[in-house]
Amino acid sequence: MLRYETLPVTPFQQNCSLVWCDRTNEAALIDPGGEIPRLLAAVKARGLTLKALWLTHAHIDHAGATGQLAREQDLPIVGPHPGDQFWIDGLPQQSQMFGFPPAEHFTPTRWLADGDTVQLGDETLSVRHCPGHTPGHVVFHSASAQRAFVGDVLFAGSIGRTDFPQGNYDQLIASITQRLWPMGDETVFIPGHGPESSFGAERRSNPFVADAALGRR
Ligand SMILES: [Zn+2]
Ligand SMILES: [Zn+2]
Repeated sequence: MLRYETLPVTPFQQNCSLVWCDRTNEAALIDPGGEIPRLLAAVKARGLTLKALWLTHAHIDHAGATGQLAREQDLPIVGPHPGDQFWIDGLPQQSQMFGFPPAEHFTPTRWLADGDTVQLGDETLSVRHCPGHTPGHVVFHSASAQRAFVGDVLFAGSIGRTDFPQGNYDQLIASITQRLWPMGDETVFIPGHGPESSFGAERRSNPFVADAALGRR
């Protein structure tokens, strides 16, 4: 069974997720934006073995601690999609602009593409490419646990910003309605910021992507 704990990090309260397979205790950190000692303490407190770092996209609050953590803990970096290469290259400027500690440069060990899968012990999650907030944004979906880790694509009651370079509003709406909704109304999503919700709840009431707002159903 896939289990997880959400650890909000950085002044942006970014939801880093510690995910693990409860049979093997193998774990991954999704979006380690900062606060490395706290993240490692959470891994240790649960007696887990950290195997990988998974990235939804390369904004500083999501990816800021990735380089240092991968180097110090000898971990592979999985994701995001190659569309975010320019955001990775821009991490030093991003950290300066937002007053974050200097971010170490990194090269993903494995880039992700739509339809890929990632493995953690006995658990397999599928990868969907969901551009719009950033061009290389991906989400991680566990069908068995009915959970999706969606970064800054969708929030409870809102959607990701599209006013960054290479952001695209229409693409973001398409990512949400064509790649997230098919995961099912019951699926609970863990957004990059703020509380969890379900796709069904957002289809009912999210002012940006509710079925009624988009003239669907
Ligand atoms: Zn972002
Ligand atoms: Zn964010």
